[in-house]
Amino acid sequence: MVELSLVMVKPHAFDTKKLGIIVSMLEQNGFKIVGLKSIKLTTELARRFYFVHEGKEFFERLIKYMSSGTIAAICVQKENCVVELRKLVGATDPTKSEVGTIRKAVGETVEANGVHSSDCIENARKEIRFFFSDIELYSYQYLDY
Ligand code: UDP
Ligand code: MG
Repeated sequence: MVELSLVMVKPHAFDTKKLGIIVSMLEQNGFKIVGLKSIKLTTELARRFYFVHEGKEFFERLIKYMSSGTIAAICVQKENCVVELRKLVGATDPTKSEVGTIRKAVGETVEANGVHSSDCIENARKEIRFFFSDIELYSYQYLDY
């Protein structure tokens, strides 16, 4: 099934100019770029995005980090997109992620691991909605070939 998923380029990866490499790896691996924007999250927005991790030991530090600089949100489309994207992104800890994955290429630490990717179809839908409005994604359908 053709699905959508969300990639978020984390602050250090954006700051160190890794956006191009990340988009390139997505495109080389058959992910179509449906939506793309760069913004700076406030702590409140970062809390909303990562609410499932509230209460965890790393939560406050993660919120501080995610709101410390510019991020990029990228909506991608592919067959079996959510699972395929998680594979391309690699393990949470970049030192444990395989060669050829985005986190191996641009990740630095468990926190600054380059990118976020949605973990299931339902969360992908919510996370895409978090960043993109209908009209930002709608026209893409007609350009698909
Ligand atoms: N994280 C962290 N410390 C941890 C676990 C996670 O800083 O011990 C951060 C890390 O940046 C990760 C994010 O919290 O990407 C969300 O964690 P999750 O377990 O959902 O990992 P992911 O789905 O991103 O691989
Ligand atoms: Mg996760």
